Amino acid sequence: ATPPEGASAWVTIDLDAISDNVRELARRSPGAEVMAVVKADAYGHGLVPSARAAVAGGATWLAVAQLREALQLRAAGVSTPLLTWLYVPGVDFGAAIDADIDISVSAPWALDAVVSAARERGRTARIHVKVDTGLARNGALGQGWTDLVAALGPVVAEGAVEVIGVWSHFALADAPQHPTVLAQRERFVEAAAELRRAGIRPPLKHLANSAATLTNPDAHFDVVRPGLAVYGLSPVPDLGAPHDFGLREAMRVTARLALVKQAPAGQGVSYGHVYTTPHDTVLGLVPVGYADGIPRHAGNVGPVRVGDRRLTVAGRVCMDQFVLDLGAEYAGGAGDEVVILGRGVDDEPTAQDWASAIDTINYEIVTRMSDRLPRVFV
Ligand code: PLP
Repeated sequence: ATPPEGASAWVTIDLDAISDNVRELARRSPGAEVMAVVKADAYGHGLVPSARAAVAGGATWLAVAQLREALQLRAAGVSTPLLTWLYVPGVDFGAAIDADIDISVSAPWALDAVVSAARERGRTARIHVKVDTGLARNGALGQGWTDLVAALGPVVAEGAVEVIGVWSHFALADAPQHPTVLAQRERFVEAAAELRRAGIRPPLKHLANSAATLTNPDAHFDVVRPGLAVYGLSPVPDLGAPHDFGLREAMRVTARLALVKQAPAGQGVSYGHVYTTPHDTVLGLVPVGYADGIPRHAGNVGPVRVGDRRLTVAGRVCMDQFVLDLGAEYAGGAGDEVVILGRGVDDEPTAQDWASAIDTINYEIVTRMSDRLPRVFV
């Protein structure tokens, strides 16, 4: 596939990489199914094509945070089992039930609302009960869990809900030796036993995000639930790069120079003049900025590759553009390609390089690439 005619910048998504990454994650999780997390537009990679690629690679489940994302998948004809978990009172659980979307339940109010919607339809809602094992984010904690378990019996008996899964999420899966990892796993096993004692035996237990999928086989249970690794990024950059785990980056971000011009030594560049040319040079204008998802904090530190050279953003990143100091010898011109995010091969900067440059995580770099940048699927 080629970039859209005349495009200033575009995001190329290698769908085979997504399929291959899922295949590799499945290989590393023998006995477990793979639930590919495709929330947030598949971490910026494009919801529907990425979901299809994950399924082609062997994912038997998909997961999204929002019901809206789940409904988009169903509207596109994706029929893979699908879990959604983040909503507020007033959410249309009826739409989820009608579309065969599994609903995570962390609180009695949500269970009541799911049950009402199921009764109205004369249907059984499929739920995954979420236990807070120590992240203190979503999920039922302490007495809240005890109460939720107690509330399940009658509605399961009535046929209003079927408990498909019990699940939880790690706080420090990226630090596999951290004592909370073991403690959360133990609490998870105990919570599943509490359900069993209440007569509820969900067929699926799932706990492992990408980091736990790659580093902690004891946390695999029946289904692993990776997001980041599906897109070929390392959730544990201190422990290994993507290729160390048999993964490869699916996203590439490319721009074309909009303007190339001579500038004298001592020229302040971009807003605030936080970069000054050290000598006579050639400046290049890259037509992407923070409205496209290039972090504004990347001023003077964001890495790019032009030709065979690694360069750094010169001065501040603006809303729509940033500048490069191409050096006095630059022989190219407008239209030349700039690799903003690549694979790390041939010294192309990676999402991890950008994350390290601005002290954030690779997740944020890829998810923030806005839909102002057209996606090209290859
Ligand atoms: N499960 C839940 C509940 C999540 O919120 C996420 C993402 O943050 C994931 C799984 C996937 O995590 P990761 O992208 O680290 O694999």
